[in-house]
Amino acid sequence: MAQDFEILRNIMVEKQLKTRDIKSETVLNAMRIVPRHLFVPKNLQNSAYNDSPLQIGLRQTISQPYIVAFMTEQLELAPGMKILEIGTGSGYQAAILAYLGCEVYTIELLEELGAGAKRVLSELGYNNIKIKYGNGYSGWQDEAPFDAIIVTAAPEKIPEKLIEQLKEGGKIILPVGPIHSVQFLKFITKQDKRIIEKDLLPVRFVPMVE
Ligand code: SAH
Repeated sequence: MAQDFEILRNIMVEKQLKTRDIKSETVLNAMRIVPRHLFVPKNLQNSAYNDSPLQIGLRQTISQPYIVAFMTEQLELAPGMKILEIGTGSGYQAAILAYLGCEVYTIELLEELGAGAKRVLSELGYNNIKIKYGNGYSGWQDEAPFDAIIVTAAPEKIPEKLIEQLKEGGKIILPVGPIHSVQFLKFITKQDKRIIEKDLLPVRFVPMVE
């Protein structure tokens, strides 16, 4: 029942996010509201609020709730910001960004997944998300520049085009590293035309297709 899922979401926020130092009230609130269970296959809905990633089909995964919250918090988003996401997947991360009032542009390589995400997002009434099917390795030139970019599949190196499509003062968060080894979540800022890069956490994401 919807009410049970709401209880599970609140427990998820208390046990998985607050205890691990997610502090932004706006991010915690988005995680309390967006119905994650609607973004996973029916047979996994009861596991949607577990502390883990889940399979969403075609060998792809929806990230662990903590990772979604962590990446979102790092970007320090505000309503009206223009955000690019590479790797729509289930559409859950895009929904969190949209809930925060951002103008979301998201690209998914696999049309079947993108179409599923589009359906759920429109059923939930998010009208500030544009989904494109295709390879997002080179970003979305026609809509650039972006205030922030979030990548939810791991390339082996930082794609140069994404840095070019970032506004001055903007932020990128993305996992980088080889497929079967440790990847790092990197945080990149562009300030006075300089690129500053920082490693945040070891992570494991599905590979980004180049
Ligand atoms: N953000 C997603 C998780 C996505 S999993 C969510 O909230 O559910 C990573 C996704 O990136 C997969 O769906 C995969 O198909 C996609 N992907 C991988 N390489 C890509 C590329 N080059 N361009 C666009 N999407 C890509």
